[in-house]
Amino acid sequence: MISNQNLSQHSAILAAIVESSDDAIVSKDLNGIVTSWNPAAERIFGYTATEMLGQSILKIIPADRHHEETTILRILGSGGRLDHFETKRITKDKRILDVSLTISPIKNKAGEITGVSKIARDITELRKQEEKEAVLAAIIESTDDAIISKTLTGIITSWNPSAQRMFGYSSEEMIGQSILNLIPPDRKEEEPLIISKLKQGERVKHFETKRVTKTDKIIDVSLTISPIKNKAGEITGVSKIARDITEKKQEDQRKNDFMAIVSHELKTPLTSIKTYVQLLQARAKKNPDEFTVSALGKADVQIKKMTNMIHDFLNLSRLEEGRMPLNKTTFSLCELLEELILEAKMLFPGHEIVLQMDKDSSICADRDKIGQVMLNLLGNAAKYSGTESLIKVCCETGAAKVKISVSDEGMGIAPADQQKLFERFYRVHTLHSSNISGFGIGLYLVSEILKLHHSEIKVQSEPGVGSTFYFCLDHA
Ligand code: ADP
Repeated sequence: MISNQNLSQHSAILAAIVESSDDAIVSKDLNGIVTSWNPAAERIFGYTATEMLGQSILKIIPADRHHEETTILRILGSGGRLDHFETKRITKDKRILDVSLTISPIKNKAGEITGVSKIARDITELRKQEEKEAVLAAIIESTDDAIISKTLTGIITSWNPSAQRMFGYSSEEMIGQSILNLIPPDRKEEEPLIISKLKQGERVKHFETKRVTKTDKIIDVSLTISPIKNKAGEITGVSKIARDITEKKQEDQRKNDFMAIVSHELKTPLTSIKTYVQLLQARAKKNPDEFTVSALGKADVQIKKMTNMIHDFLNLSRLEEGRMPLNKTTFSLCELLEELILEAKMLFPGHEIVLQMDKDSSICADRDKIGQVMLNLLGNAAKYSGTESLIKVCCETGAAKVKISVSDEGMGIAPADQQKLFERFYRVHTLHSSNISGFGIGLYLVSEILKLHHSEIKVQSEPGVGSTFYFCLDHA
């Protein structure tokens, strides 16, 4: 038997729970008239207790769900109870909420049902979150990219169907296993490097590497790796998106091989044509005939252009094979630039090319390769600007470095293209540039040669106004 004192203590506790609950706790009589309405009900549905007490519960039930009330009463009448019944309710400001209801009968001493108590939990956010997760899950299931997540110690925690297609292992085989199973023995050191980058808050984007499949096949992949963080912002794991780029790599390899063979085959006949032109030029000097001298001069210019092109092709294939040694010497920058400008004036006679240099600098670098960088930049400046426009080569000498720039007054480059210019085979396709021929390897070579010199090529450009390409070299 509960004493009167205990009973009032018990009621006080119950009242405190109802007051402080995050869930709406509402009761009503059998006619649907609200008899209690707690603070959470006020927060969730927007009506105050004064507005609701004595009113019909139908105020918060969307019209198309009024019939639910009769069903609920029938279930309760037959001694039942409803747990986590998911439905919709409408707020004072006409928002539709997803709610989960737990409904129990209120009985009098005789055991007759006199009313109903409802606990309503607002699950709108939860539903939205579930919908978002379902969309994400569908993307992860259907994408062509392998999406894998793992712990910071490299233990795989998720593995999508494309990961199975790409690497041959099922998720049952891989979850709980080490990611090192996919990394070829000579690349195992990549993993700690990637993790340390992520720990510093960096994201690794389009990192090209190799991975090994279940059948020991080596595939080329491009990886984008991001940290997984908990609510406190701590990194708890890593997610990887891997794209199979084996075909693209093979295609690039075929292009490189083709260029290497063609340029090698072209070199021999070109050298002999050059020798004959030089012989004829020597002869023409003795017996000057205006037409012959001019024709041989033009032939000589074309031979030089072709030689530069072949140099680019050969350097590209050398670079791909990782064998482009630098032959560093100390030389005068001014002398090199004057030589190059003389050559450029001969190759691109339609342009005015000027050199602005405050003072000479001694540079320790590969003279031929820096020459090739400059000829490529000068060639582009001439190619992508109108004839008779000005091309400026500037040198600014700083304390430790000298900055070299090539500026033109040409068609310029849109910001989106500026980021991709230095990729291999990248060419801008605009109405103005579509009839200008090229292979898209010049700036790639410029960038790679400068990287070998611990330098970087940069561009500033405005479409329709012109472009400036610049880089820095250390003083000797
Ligand atoms: P190519 O000139 O053979 O196409 P590059 O690698 O030298 O290859 O240049 C890549 C692209 O960058 C070119 O196709 C061109 O669209 C753009 N570009 C390079 N230099 C300039 C410049 N000075 N002005 C405008 N566009 C340029």
